[in-house]
Amino acid sequence: MDLQRMSDAVEQIRGQIADAAKQSGRRAEDVLLCAVCKTQPSDIVLASAGLPIDLFGENRMQELVSHQQEGAFGGKPCHFIGHLQTNKVRRVVGQVEMIQSVNSPRLLEAISREARRQDIVQDILMEVNIGEEATKTGASEEEVFPLIDLALASEGIRLRGLMAIPPAFDNSDQSRGYFAAMRRLLESARKHAGGDAVLDTLSMGMTDSYIAAILEGSTLVRIGRAIYGERL
Ligand SMILES: *Cc1c(COP(=O)(O)O)cnc(C)c1O
Repeated sequence: MDLQRMSDAVEQIRGQIADAAKQSGRRAEDVLLCAVCKTQPSDIVLASAGLPIDLFGENRMQELVSHQQEGAFGGKPCHFIGHLQTNKVRRVVGQVEMIQSVNSPRLLEAISREARRQDIVQDILMEVNIGEEATKTGASEEEVFPLIDLALASEGIRLRGLMAIPPAFDNSDQSRGYFAAMRRLLESARKHAGGDAVLDTLSMGMTDSYIAAILEGSTLVRIGRAIYGERL
């Protein structure tokens, strides 16, 4: 692995994030850069921890555990961003700063139960299937509000916002409509939740779409390939 190439890539992404944030009336630091290190060996993950990324994203419990055991995050925070089975919740709750991929009442209840057992509060996002795709696991738009109510009523859980993986297009402009829909949904969620909840996080945008996502209000982009190269 070429550390210089990775370092240049992160610097370039940082520049793009700053430009897009500015264009959307925000500051560069209003958008967090999450490095999605799936399939990467721990030495590469640790090397990337020294670059100006804000946090890591893991989508598999096993890989989260091994990266953690090998100290690969170098002290940076980690979010869980993948499909989480209820029987694996114990290995993830309390091990990550945020679980971004909460998509069902069953999962929410399992996380709440485990957080209470550990006597902690787990930050979460609701994953929304904004493109209503049959192959994706997020909650549908109709399911989101009941889920938000359940999250707000659940002990051991702090709801921080929404996450989405919109349909992929060759041209990221085509994704913008979905990103805009997510921003509107977060605004409605804030109204719905009332004053007590701080819904400050909108996690959207990946390698092929992060600029469009930021222009529509993303506060956290999850980037894998643009940092680490194509996955094998
Ligand atoms: C892999 C993955 C990403 C990053 O995708 P890239 O196209 O490599 O940037 C972002 N979010 C989730 C949930 C992922 O699984």
